[in-house]
Amino acid sequence: MIPFNRPLYTGNEDKYVTAAMRSAKMSGDGEFGQLCHRWFEEHLGCAKALLTPSCTHALEMAAILINIQPGDEVIMPSYTFVSTANAFIMRGAKVIFVDVRPDTMNIDETLIEAAVTDKTRAIVPVHYAGVGCEMDAIMAIATRHGLYVIEDAAQGMMSTYKGKPLGTIGHLGTYSFHETKNYTSGGEGGLLIINDTSLVNRAEIIREKGTNRGQFWRGMVDKYTWVDIGSSYLPSELQAAYLYGQLLCATEVNEDRLRTWKIYYEAFAGFIDKVELPSVPESCVHNAHMFYIKLKNLGARTKFIEGMKARNVMTVFHYVPLHSSPCGKRCAALSGVDKFTTSESEKLVRLPMWGGMLPEERNQVIRAAATVLAEI
Ligand SMILES: *Cc1c(COP(=O)(O)O)cnc(C)c1O
Repeated sequence: MIPFNRPLYTGNEDKYVTAAMRSAKMSGDGEFGQLCHRWFEEHLGCAKALLTPSCTHALEMAAILINIQPGDEVIMPSYTFVSTANAFIMRGAKVIFVDVRPDTMNIDETLIEAAVTDKTRAIVPVHYAGVGCEMDAIMAIATRHGLYVIEDAAQGMMSTYKGKPLGTIGHLGTYSFHETKNYTSGGEGGLLIINDTSLVNRAEIIREKGTNRGQFWRGMVDKYTWVDIGSSYLPSELQAAYLYGQLLCATEVNEDRLRTWKIYYEAFAGFIDKVELPSVPESCVHNAHMFYIKLKNLGARTKFIEGMKARNVMTVFHYVPLHSSPCGKRCAALSGVDKFTTSESEKLVRLPMWGGMLPEERNQVIRAAATVLAEI
């Protein structure tokens, strides 16, 4: 059986995890937490990078940081993971969904401005499959209307838009280190990227349960105290150590994924009468987070997934648009029409893909797909 995903394991993690287990400090922001922060700050050139227990938590921190209040509106695509919306709804915001572009499945930047009202506070672009949204247009809209931009770059580590790493273009950005993502901190994990320097101090306070403990450790205040709302948004040293082992070979892992992606792309280019291939705009360098194809319709996709399963290959569809879910109907609204979100999401299927996938595994997927597609 070829699974859909295998969590990344490079062999480099063991020695750091063992060191963390034997250290005198296993709680957050010890040696490995700090090493990870430094790695991200150097590689991203951001004002501050803070590990979190998940991308969900990083998004929740972002919503607190920009002071989302009941009644505020936040614009995002409906084709995304629930956490993108939940983080803002938990602060009382109303989520406003905008249709996606069929070529990248990213928010259609040309439809965003029509969704802006006097209640709008933020735009949350989601970089689907690690392919960047049209950030120049999005930042221009945000500047015109005085809005925050929070990039949900959960899938976007190692990707760039016009040379800038995803997550470093908006005021804030988030990464996920869940086991299904390109890098993992041992199953669950995330990162909050802070680009707007005015948000750094408060981000550290919110992450430390609303205390100024971070400033205390650095000797900036002589005792620490409760200064704001907050929660426990620090992962343990075990998670940071696991991730650190992967960061040291991040480039090799990325190149390996891109190789698999290109092999899939070339193989499926032979079936363009049956499938649509993913597209990457010229302004974007992607990270091969995902290889998806689009079948002609929902029926063809269902047959494809079943046919692949019968040949021991697990393929999966992705998000059911949030605006058609029970919570989405209560807490969110669609701006404009759903021209592509539902119809395109119903055609999309993701193929097995992970760092370190073996050539024979890729070949089994491609052989199975060729047989199944010939019958559809
Ligand atoms: C994976 C993912 C998340 C959630 O990440 P967690 O680390 O599991 O909380 C949020 N948004 C998007 C777009 C994702 O792909």
